[in-house]
Amino acid sequence: MALVLAVDGERWRGHLRGYAEATPGLVPVAKGNGYGFTLGRLARKAAWLGADTLAVGTYEELPEVAGRFPGDLLVLTPWRSFHPAPDASLERRVVHTVSRPDDLGGLLAAQPGARFVLELRTSMRRHGMSAQELWGLGSDGARALRGGRLEGVALHLPLAAGRHLAEVERLLTDLVAAGLPTRTVWVSHLTAAELTTLRSSYADLEIRPRIGTDLWLGDRDALRVTATVLDAHPLARGDGFGYRGRTAPRDGTLLVVSGGTAHGIGLESPKGEAGLKARAAVVARSGLDAMGLTRSPFWVDGKQRLFAEPPHMQASMLFLPADAAVPEVGDRVDARVRYTATTFDRVDVG
Ligand SMILES: *Cc1c(COP(=O)(O)O)cnc(C)c1O
Repeated sequence: MALVLAVDGERWRGHLRGYAEATPGLVPVAKGNGYGFTLGRLARKAAWLGADTLAVGTYEELPEVAGRFPGDLLVLTPWRSFHPAPDASLERRVVHTVSRPDDLGGLLAAQPGARFVLELRTSMRRHGMSAQELWGLGSDGARALRGGRLEGVALHLPLAAGRHLAEVERLLTDLVAAGLPTRTVWVSHLTAAELTTLRSSYADLEIRPRIGTDLWLGDRDALRVTATVLDAHPLARGDGFGYRGRTAPRDGTLLVVSGGTAHGIGLESPKGEAGLKARAAVVARSGLDAMGLTRSPFWVDGKQRLFAEPPHMQASMLFLPADAAVPEVGDRVDARVRYTATTFDRVDVG
């Protein structure tokens, strides 16, 4: 028993279905730790949803999903000569992202006939070519595309729910002006309302929203993360414990739970009271400020508890004050973690 992500399968699948039905052109994104679910599971779910394209973060992730999802595979990291080339068996399914004009020649030399999208730079400034560069490729016409298959233009927008329309309209105007032989635009981080507006103002464009978080993690009530209580030791004020020989600030219990740095458990809890002032208040209220204890992501007896010392590799030591009910060894306690940064020992889909 360890750090476990338990999924209410019926509820989760219901959310996925509903989300996909409400999102025409949806391109599910499966990258990194698979948003906590693993890449393989997301690939199978994307197939079950009937998606025609799955987006992955990197070329290295392709083998994880290729056997579990039968459709096209869009790689979000822009093509560079130093990335590993996809397996030859995937050449017809992989859609590359080209973010610099010069890379197009490189890609097509490495893989004649490759499928690709051209990434246009947004206010993110992460990757992407300028409108001028896009126009350059467009004015070169078919010559620039050199036998490759242009699958559209990609935009990666910052997280600014509901405030993208002006920027996207400007970019789409650039795109239309470039005169490229494509009508498909791949976008991120637009709200449903923004997507609807764009579809009606640019009725001739096909809009493909790439979505990860809101799809996979959009119904948090379907998800529960728990850790197992591995040990509980009564502590009297002044008792020493831990790697650093700290002493207990007052009477209580040292609770050892599964989940540590190897799982991505860090000193900061993502949820709850944010900000230094609020954090200071939590610590002061608990009377542990002298110890410099920090909040853990673990909840025991209805409250978010403090680390007794920084998390270990596979377990964490928490300080439970004397007034808290002490769980039994083997009991499960709730943990609030960042799904995209946590490696679970197990994912149970019920
Ligand atoms: C991660 C990513 C997405 C999906 O982002 P979410 O916030 O998880 O929906 C879309 N596009 C690109 C380029 C990305 O890297």
